[in-house]
Amino acid sequence: MKYSAVVDSYEKLQGHSGRLAIRDVLAELLKQTPEDELPMLVYLTQGKLLPDYEGVELGIADKLALRALHTASGKPVELVRETYIRSGDIGTAAEKLLEESRQESLFSEQLTLKRVYDTLFAIAKTSGEGSIEAKLKDLVNLLNDASAKEAKYILRTAMGELRLGVADYTILDACAIALLGEKGHRKALERAYNVSSDLGYVVQLASQKGLKGVERVQVQIGKPIRPMLAERLPTAEEILKKMGGDVAIEYKLDGERAQMHKNGNKVEIFSRRLEVITNTYPDVAEYVRQYVKGKQVILEGEVVAINTVTGEYYPFQELMHRRRKHGIEAIMKQYPVAVNFFDVLFSDGQDLTGRPYSERRAELERIVQVTEFTRPVPAKRTKSAEEIEKYMEDSIAAGGEGLMIKDPQAVYTAGARGFGWIKLKREYRSELTDTIDLVIVGAIHGRGRRAGVYGAFLLAAYDDKKNDFPTITKIGTGFSDEDLEKLPKLLKPYESLVKPANVESQLVPDVWYKPKVVIETIASEITLSPSYPAGLDAVRKGSGLALRFPKFTGKVRDEKGPEDATTVKEIVEIYGMQLKKIKSE
Ligand code: ATP
Repeated sequence: MKYSAVVDSYEKLQGHSGRLAIRDVLAELLKQTPEDELPMLVYLTQGKLLPDYEGVELGIADKLALRALHTASGKPVELVRETYIRSGDIGTAAEKLLEESRQESLFSEQLTLKRVYDTLFAIAKTSGEGSIEAKLKDLVNLLNDASAKEAKYILRTAMGELRLGVADYTILDACAIALLGEKGHRKALERAYNVSSDLGYVVQLASQKGLKGVERVQVQIGKPIRPMLAERLPTAEEILKKMGGDVAIEYKLDGERAQMHKNGNKVEIFSRRLEVITNTYPDVAEYVRQYVKGKQVILEGEVVAINTVTGEYYPFQELMHRRRKHGIEAIMKQYPVAVNFFDVLFSDGQDLTGRPYSERRAELERIVQVTEFTRPVPAKRTKSAEEIEKYMEDSIAAGGEGLMIKDPQAVYTAGARGFGWIKLKREYRSELTDTIDLVIVGAIHGRGRRAGVYGAFLLAAYDDKKNDFPTITKIGTGFSDEDLEKLPKLLKPYESLVKPANVESQLVPDVWYKPKVVIETIASEITLSPSYPAGLDAVRKGSGLALRFPKFTGKVRDEKGPEDATTVKEIVEIYGMQLKKIKSE
């Protein structure tokens, strides 16, 4: 397939914002694509090279992109840089600079989708000494054979800034129409995606095997399942009402979510964002080998740092010591962990995701041996709000942050936030009942005591409809001196000379960052604000939403990707809950 055909479709997408129009353009593109190239096309359109769990990341720095553009266009470095800053986007700059220096007839070769994919893959995989020059060479070769329009998309993709406004679910919609011939089949595709976490695979399967093949997709050992997520409600009474009066309550512990796949003696562990973290927790892998019955099992649990003398749990921050590549054996002994299993999704040949919670919990209790380091998370059934409140106190005393309340009838809804699980955190009178996870998109220089370091950060929520990051607050409180030293280092690779295309902001910070780093915040309330675009018009015309008195909790949520940050939709819901609470007081 020619890359120019892909680019033609991308150009059409830029002209549309409605989901249906986007879906139709994508459907046409899928129809034109040869079966064996479908995965490549899908990953590239998602702005990726492989499913997230493979850990191959796109995203060259803008300095490298500018050098490549300088060499390929033959234009002076300064002009290239200026054009980039003025246009605010690498793709537009590339198109402009190359249009002037390139004629159709000069191309030596027509680019194919495969060549673009393979080159970007090679660039992403190159590391170590001399890698910058090697990447540069590959990129320049590709740009030399590209038309101005192709170069626009190649550079955007290479920088991780493709931003077509295409959500994963829109690709599934397009696939239903183009490859299964029926809009209604999207549900089956969605399930296949949620249990395999691999959109390229699902789309190719639809083409090869049709609906029957898609419906047969089963949970598979070794392929991570997209996690089920919890909704929020403010009180035990409301939760009981929502779930029909009879619920299961579990401690909600403050650690790291782990999805553990056991296949005989082999154990693989995936994080909440489905990255492989087996090397971070070799001890957890060993516990699963030893203390979980069954040859083939997929479980979920919360890994918590533990004091082995007293048996107490430490807060999440203690797990940070585990985030290193070398010397994990020694660190493991110094900072031991325990696992509280809370779900089982597959057990000896059986996919359990379609079974109700009550059955899965019974299976969990059957297969998990209780030891110093392993147990099913404490849980009980109840119909009483009072008992829920009491269990909340028990959970907090045991180092938990509240309760997870689960509908005993609910199946495991992979990849979805729903009311099958509802989280209940302890109420603080002056604060919101839940923390909010936001993405750092900018920094503002400090003054006074903070001169020389950043005084505040600009934060954004995730808008899953538009697939972008509207800002919601500035934050300067809650940072220790250590945080202020560490955060800029963590953010450095994501610095951007211009506002990243997927950030919406009226405010202009001193430094922009590509949305990558997620931090946890707490605030006193959510207010209407004319200065921030998050939730614009959702509550009142012309107003967005902002956090009042935001404070950093100390947690960098490195197990969350930017798309896992709190969504605008959730912020609007929290705003609604807060209003209800005020009215009832
Ligand atoms: P998200 O809902 O996006 O995961 P989050 O990561 O900030 O948000 P919460 O929403 O507060 O976390 O709660 C969900 C998380 O709680 C789970 O991802 C899991 O890591 C943790 N957790 C702790 N105990 C339990 C439990 N008993 N059952 C399910 N999840 C639990």
